[in-house]
Amino acid sequence: MPRSGSWGGRAIESIVAQAGDRRVALTLPFEAMLLLVDLDGVVYRGADPVPGVAAVLAARAAAGDDVLYVTNNSMHYRADYVTRLSAMGAPVSPDRVVSSSRATALYLREHQPGVSRALTVGAGGLERELTDVGIEVVTAAAAAELAERDDLDGFQAAGRPGAVVVGVDPLIDYARLGVAADCIRAGALFIATNRDPVYPIERRLRPGAGAIVAAIATAAGQEPLVSIGKPEPLLLLEAASAVGARASDGIMIGDGLLTDLAAARAVGARCILMLTGVTSRSALAALAPDERPAAVAADAAELAAALDRLATDASTP
Ligand SMILES: [Mg+2]
Repeated sequence: MPRSGSWGGRAIESIVAQAGDRRVALTLPFEAMLLLVDLDGVVYRGADPVPGVAAVLAARAAAGDDVLYVTNNSMHYRADYVTRLSAMGAPVSPDRVVSSSRATALYLREHQPGVSRALTVGAGGLERELTDVGIEVVTAAAAAELAERDDLDGFQAAGRPGAVVVGVDPLIDYARLGVAADCIRAGALFIATNRDPVYPIERRLRPGAGAIVAAIATAAGQEPLVSIGKPEPLLLLEAASAVGARASDGIMIGDGLLTDLAAARAVGARCILMLTGVTSRSALAALAPDERPAAVAADAAELAAALDRLATDASTP
């Protein structure tokens, strides 16, 4: 149960969260924070939850913080995350999940309103996110098939799309690369969901969106107009904007130096670097002093303490 008090003339609520097998006391100034939370390496590692992190986030959400999940993964529809995160006890609804595909859709709707049709090189989640904001989607697979059957240029086969959106397409092939490059050469905007070179699955690495983007860029003779995902700023900017907040007021909670920490720096947000994923203490120690995150947390209890401290900093009169 929350207990009320005061601190520096502000209301405070103290609550106790269950973090794995530990109880964590949080003292929260009553000013809500925007938490931009990476998923893999923070809330879970592959199939396994990181102990206690979901409970810490649930406690913050119960106290009024905005908890948004920001992931570079472009393959899934945002609603696909709800069952999994709910089962772990994390506070979630579909619109609390902003993948690089969702952010790409929001970016196109807001900044490229002339794009009514897009060619996608990606998985089902990318198609659904673009369709949700009213963009007609032609998959590279469908366009490649038509181009082959009717001996057409890829741009014609795709119905002259205004944009080519590229994420991870696990079934990428030569013909799909070809139609994407055709469309870009014909003038379609080239948009990358992200440029991660690889992404980890159970003890292996798979080629990331960046590998496919690089192949298309080479064939088309031009680089993407924009890349949405971390370390670039747009994923965090679109996520914050979707809840009426500013990304610079947010706290990024992530495990990647080259993605999460870099994106936080790009938007002027503070970052809590989690040591529960890809980053080691030695990699962190090698950072220049002005590149260090606002806080470091090795587990859920340290995350709770770091959030408590940053909340207090943020509300200091
Ligand atoms: Mg991560």
